[in-house]
Amino acid sequence: MGISRRQFFYGTAATTAVAFTAQTARANTCTMPTQARQAALTPQGVVEELMAGNQRFVSGNMVNCDLNAQVLQTAEGQYPIAAVVGCIDSRVPPEMVFDQHIGDIFSARIAGNFVNSDILGSLEFACRVAGAKAIVVLGHSACGAVKGAIDQVELGNLTDMLAKIEPAVQAVGPIADRSSKDSDLVQRVADANVALTVAAITAESAVLADMVAGGELVVVGAMHNVATGEITLLG
Ligand SMILES: [Zn+2]
Repeated sequence: MGISRRQFFYGTAATTAVAFTAQTARANTCTMPTQARQAALTPQGVVEELMAGNQRFVSGNMVNCDLNAQVLQTAEGQYPIAAVVGCIDSRVPPEMVFDQHIGDIFSARIAGNFVNSDILGSLEFACRVAGAKAIVVLGHSACGAVKGAIDQVELGNLTDMLAKIEPAVQAVGPIADRSSKDSDLVQRVADANVALTVAAITAESAVLADMVAGGELVVVGAMHNVATGEITLLG
């Protein structure tokens, strides 16, 4: 079947329109972090922006903004939209998996993505002082720290650190065979660990709890699948 001249031109016009829309969307998502952008986003809007960024990441349509331009843009100040409590794992860099810019995310990373007073203080700075409107506790699949906690690994300072994840192991209920070889158990503990960290943030920080109560901040849990790059919200 041949393509008529009319169809051809319509097709070309449609393609151009799609290309223009994609280009416009790309330009919009490439918008540099500014005070106006930070001010315009609601806490829930920030979460939606991060999830949209993850969809760009998963589909290979990341915005290739000019990193050096971002450095120049943020040299005089920063207007971050979110703070992420993530794992130190090499596969889950928050800025990349949420497809965000330099200047968008405060990133606290520690094996097993839990909080202590130092990380809570950092989050208080990120949100109360610097203006971030969403905290994402970002766990991930196949987490080595979770596996280590399940197996009760003992090694130098790691022993004490893994004890911080023990409450998540306990939270999943009776375990017949406590072994990290059980991948379902590893995932259930990782999910529980995120939920416990989300709860701890407002339970242990009056500053952040006040912001949540006042509608200035949301705290959400999320799970990153290291096999697909996809992030899903929990809870
Ligand atoms: Zn991990």
